[in-house]
Amino acid sequence: MQNYFQREIETAPREKILEIQNEKIVKQVKYVYENVKYYRDLMDEKGVTPDDIKSVDDIKKLPLLSKSDLRECYPYGLLATDLKNCVRIQSTSGTTGKRVVAYYTQHDVDLWEECCARAIVAVGGTNEDVCHVAYGYGLFTGGAGIHGGSHKVGCLTLPMSSGNTDRQIQFMMDLGSTILCCTPSYAAYIGESLKEAGYKPEDNKLKAGIFGAEPWTEEMRKHIEESLGIKAYDIYGLTEISGPGVAFECSEQSGMHINEDHFYVEIIDPDTGEVLPEGSKGELVFTCLDKEAFPLLRYRTRDICVLSREKCPCGRTHVKMTKPMGRSDDMLIIRGVNVFPSQIEEVLLKIGNGITPNYQIIVDRVNNTDTFDIDVELDENMFTDDVKSIEKVEKHIVSELRSVLGIGVKVHLVNPKSISRSEGKAKRVIDNRKL
Ligand code: ADP
Ligand code: ZN
Repeated sequence: MQNYFQREIETAPREKILEIQNEKIVKQVKYVYENVKYYRDLMDEKGVTPDDIKSVDDIKKLPLLSKSDLRECYPYGLLATDLKNCVRIQSTSGTTGKRVVAYYTQHDVDLWEECCARAIVAVGGTNEDVCHVAYGYGLFTGGAGIHGGSHKVGCLTLPMSSGNTDRQIQFMMDLGSTILCCTPSYAAYIGESLKEAGYKPEDNKLKAGIFGAEPWTEEMRKHIEESLGIKAYDIYGLTEISGPGVAFECSEQSGMHINEDHFYVEIIDPDTGEVLPEGSKGELVFTCLDKEAFPLLRYRTRDICVLSREKCPCGRTHVKMTKPMGRSDDMLIIRGVNVFPSQIEEVLLKIGNGITPNYQIIVDRVNNTDTFDIDVELDENMFTDDVKSIEKVEKHIVSELRSVLGIGVKVHLVNPKSISRSEGKAKRVIDNRKL
């Protein structure tokens, strides 16, 4: 039986969703135009007025916003209401540069937490669950958003925050956590630590995990599901739009439903900014439809994915996005070839056979040529001092990577535990080139 947090809107017919979006966008654009000088200037420059926006079809007439606009407006340049109406500030993780801040009224917090509640219910969460929140608490939106959603569902909420893995495990086992929420890289680390502590996957009471905030592959999903004995679900979001829960996976585990009653989504060509037809791969762009404090219109996420409107067996009617394969900023250009860390993760975990998801990519430039090295950890059982067998495994990884990436790479198998573990977003790449 399917369960929904807000059945009516989550399963609303397409026409109904469009009707809601059309009604909201007209109001939102007028509100932003009247209250945010920065965006009003951009609209004036483009010769667009709120009267030109009569439905979501007209959204493409509006100017695009990017992270550089947010940095320029730091801290309060995009505030759309009096600061006294705001109750919260959060900030991005700063993965790709200077952090940006976002502010929320109580209405905005409620809307965000409702989206997270939808995600928790979609993985089977009820008031009988113990929701173990191991996303970081603080400025990062991961902890706060899921925490609020968990309360709304009525789960027993365990506000662990990230880190102190021994304590995570102790509480998980003692208190019977049933839903684990954290970054996928931290979930893998918790799985590894449970095993080390002598627990088998069936020893814990976990049934599901809600993992997001960074790219992860299907292979990583399998790895986490096996090590924790759970179903692992993806969740997507970004601080600028609210936080986690902008989109979430349902029982089908085949893409994330975007909460279209709150966020209008477009896919654009990242080079030209042109809107691409449905089903194309491109950059996600979001328009907030009903936010008060930080209502971004046409915000470029840099995240690359594909949208699908195929009917979902779960009954939800909101459009689905594929896992972002990484953001355009994550893409490395090595000797002229585009490389995403997620491609490397996929290859490593597919090979399996003692190869762990702990890897680090090191790029440098020597004599005007890019060097490309990957350190990969073997697990304890597979680790050996036998140089011949190590070389054999390394060669195998090199040839698999070459066939996927199209360029040569040096692979180094390293000692178990030698690559530092992440408690939040994993740092997979060390780029020493001075580009
Ligand atoms: P920062 O941009 O500093 O990392 P945030 O903490 O707000 O700031 O993170 C938002 C970004 O995290 C998204 O734009 C996206 O690149 C990434 N992200 C979030 N969830 C996922 C996910 N499920 N899969 C892949 N990437 C994700
Ligand atoms: Zn679904």
